[in-house]
Amino acid sequence: MKTLVKKVNRENINKDVIKHGAELIKKGELVAFPTETVYGLGASGLNGRACEKIFKTKNRPADNPLILHISSIDMLYTLVGEVREDAKKLMHLWPGPLTMVFKKSKLIPDIVTAGGDTVAIRFPEDRIAHELIKEANIPIAAPSANISGRPSPTNAEDVYYDLEGKIPLIIDGGPSNIGIESTVIDMSEEIPTILRPGFYTYEYIREILPHVILDDALVDDKKIPKSPGQKYRHYAPKAQMKIFVGFEASDRIYDIANEQKNLGKKVGILTFEDKIDRFKDFYTISFGQKSDLRYMSHILFTALRQMDREGVDIILAEGVNEKNLGKSIMNRMKKSASGNIEYL
Ligand code: AMP
Ligand code: MG
Repeated sequence: MKTLVKKVNRENINKDVIKHGAELIKKGELVAFPTETVYGLGASGLNGRACEKIFKTKNRPADNPLILHISSIDMLYTLVGEVREDAKKLMHLWPGPLTMVFKKSKLIPDIVTAGGDTVAIRFPEDRIAHELIKEANIPIAAPSANISGRPSPTNAEDVYYDLEGKIPLIIDGGPSNIGIESTVIDMSEEIPTILRPGFYTYEYIREILPHVILDDALVDDKKIPKSPGQKYRHYAPKAQMKIFVGFEASDRIYDIANEQKNLGKKVGILTFEDKIDRFKDFYTISFGQKSDLRYMSHILFTALRQMDREGVDIILAEGVNEKNLGKSIMNRMKKSASGNIEYL
């Protein structure tokens, strides 16, 4: 299959491309498209066969349910059972990088929910995503548009690298603004539970819902996550990766980088702007200023994929404290590194 890549300008959206994408979705085909979090691999969320293609194309484990993307609150009420008052409060964050899990309605094919009785819903803010869902006029099931296990794609080139020849269309809207996936909150039971941290942090959600809790697995790495997707090896670059956190992180990275270089390895360094000059002898990508975690989340997946393209053997990365957005970033980084982390 030939994969077309069509550019769309967010400020002046090319309706023909949106129409083309929506037609493909309605016919049961797959379309990759930008959202504010990462690029999604979209299919009609009401068509079980189309959703099956998502699982095959991504090589996604069958027990990992999909998020349905909507373009209006009205759409939500056709897809879910009860919507609690708490969920209505969080709806003020829609459109945006927040996914809520509800009891599902009969309309939803089993494959979307991996056989479960709950469904995850998001109302994205990105204008291109919004126009595509509106034009298709059906909820779009869309996990990240990568091969399962790889870092999520944050631009059309990264989608093409993974899915070329496998899907008919990639809508190219430039880099995703946020760069990490949505916050997932289970609203289907009495106590709202954060299953995956994202742009909206625990600290932020707690200001709206003081009784919100974190899934056990987000507090203790040894616990089994409630959200199936969180248990898999994830976001992994081809290179081996190790994370360092603490005041002496940079010194330790410096020592190991030289050690590895002497062993003939190509070393990639991910660190903050103020430290980058130290690593002139290595391939480096900057995480920006340590005070700007938004930039760090924006660049993280892009950087991991860039490291792979450079052919580095080992990535040494500086991590951050697991507070606020730092928790969401470290949730991704630890999975990327298969838990290989050193606190100094
Ligand atoms: P992604 O592949 O990036 O779209 O990730 C979707 C995330 O949402 C995965 O971690 C899924 O396990 C999670 N998810 C989707 N549907 C549900 C659901 N019904 N209950 C709990 N988690 C869900
Ligand atoms: Mg994913």
